[in-house]
This record gives sequence, C-alpha cells and structure tokens, in this order.
Amino acid sequence: MDIRLAGVTVDFAAHGVRALDDVELSIAEGEQVALLGPSGAGKSTLLRIILGAIQPVAGEVRVSGLDPFGGSRDVTRIRRATGMVRQRDDLVRGLTARTNILIGHTHGWRPGDWWHVLRGRVPHRHLQRLHTLAVRHDIAQLLSTRIENLSGGQRQRVALVRALLGKPRLLLADEATSGLDPARAAEALAHLRDADAATLIVTTHDLTVARQFPRVVAVRDGRIVFDGPELPEEAVADIYGGRPAKVNS
Ligand code: ADP
Ligand code: MG
Repeated sequence: MDIRLAGVTVDFAAHGVRALDDVELSIAEGEQVALLGPSGAGKSTLLRIILGAIQPVAGEVRVSGLDPFGGSRDVTRIRRATGMVRQRDDLVRGLTARTNILIGHTHGWRPGDWWHVLRGRVPHRHLQRLHTLAVRHDIAQLLSTRIENLSGGQRQRVALVRALLGKPRLLLADEATSGLDPARAAEALAHLRDADAATLIVTTHDLTVARQFPRVVAVRDGRIVFDGPELPEEAVADIYGGRPAKVNS
C-alpha cells in the first residue's frame, strides 16, 4: 500500500504537546522505510494516524487512496490490509504461541472456532499459511509453548507471524528490535525485511538499525528532519544533538 501524508499536524491538546508538525511524507508500495528518531519524536504517532487511531488537527492522510478518518469502510479496509508489530509486547501470557497468533485473526470466526483455538487447534483456513510462516520465521517448534517461556527474540517472531497471518500489504513495526541484544535485533530485522508484506515501515531510535534500510526518514520534535537513502553524520547531529533541527529536502 502506498502512503501519503500532507501537512499533517497532531496535537495532544490536553497535554500541550504537538506530536507531529506539518508533516509531508510519501511512501510508495513496496518500499522498506526506517522511521528514525529519539524517544518522543513522534514515530509511534505517525504509525497510529496511518491506522486511523489518532486524528490529526490538520492535514490529509491517504493509505492507498483510502482515508483513515473518512468512515468505517475505509478504516476497516486499511486495518485489514495492515499488520502491526507493537513496541510493547502485547502477547497474552498463559496462552501458547499458536493461540496468540490465531486470536489476532478472529474476523469471520464462528462461535465454535474459539473453543477449538483455545484447545490448540488451528481453523482449517489458517493451517497452511500458519505452517509456512512458522517455518520461515523459525517458530515452528515453539507453537505449543506458552508465551512466558519464550525469549524476547522468539516472542518478537511470534508477534511478527501474528501480524503476517492476515497477508498484510502494509507491515508496521514499532520499535520491533528494541530490547533485543544486537544479534537478536539483527535477526528480527532480517525477518521483518524478509516478510512477504509489500510495504514495510519500521520505527527505531537505533542508528545502526535505520542504516540497514534503503530509505531513512528521521523525525525530531514532530518534524521530518531527514529523508534519504543514506544518513550522513551531519544529519545524525540534527536528529540527536542540541542544535535546532533543519529540514533536509
Ligand atoms: P516516539 O514514538 O517517537 O517515542 P510518540 O509518537 O510516542 O513518540 O510521542 C510524540 C509526542 O507525543 C511525545 O511528546 C509524547 O509524550 C506525546 N504523546 C504521544 N501519545 C500521547 C498521548 N496519548 N497523550 C498525550 N501525549 C502523547
Ligand atoms: Mg514510540
């Protein structure tokens, strides 16, 4: 899916915070983009407006021509076509990896499906794809394991497979490599980039993660301060340093 933001401004008025300030951004179908910036820069907010979860006070958002604030039909179509791996691990403890993956996809379930899934069975229409994804992302041996017995990297891959099961054309990953040691982070990144979603946006505050992407969009104080294929040292100082942010266009 392609994404277009034009003049997008997001305020959390009650907190006196401008989270995004006049953001212009276009991402084409098929691109893999790292959204880089320090904590509080506005990265998660940007992902959430794509999903229609936070409404801008100004500007226009389009996801494959659909308007996430244009009505429930557009929102539903966007959300069905999008997979999200969240910053905080929101997998459910006490349930197996398999059940966690499946309860992310309850659309169209019949009442009896819950019973089967909670007892460890996979609805027929998900069997083949779950198997393929589990093998590809190296969790096939872990599907019957409870979430709390998995390592951080393993949980990350379970969350990824959950996001991918619905065949998303857009994959959003919010700090998906944070909290993993460097080897596991590199592995998680490789899995994300190798996923079969057309468009990928990964937020990160980690420069080395961002630099592995063909396009880096850097955000600071709600503004895009860099957008390009390779991040030069001067731009790094702009993103993290004390100097006023400069727009690189
Ligand atoms: P990042 O993901 O880059 O760390 P966020 O998008 O989460 O940044 O936040 C951007 C700014 O908006 C921060 O100042 C943050 O405190 C503020 N913010 C984010 N979500 C909310 C919210 N629900 N209510 C109030 N302020 C928020
Ligand atoms: Mg965030």
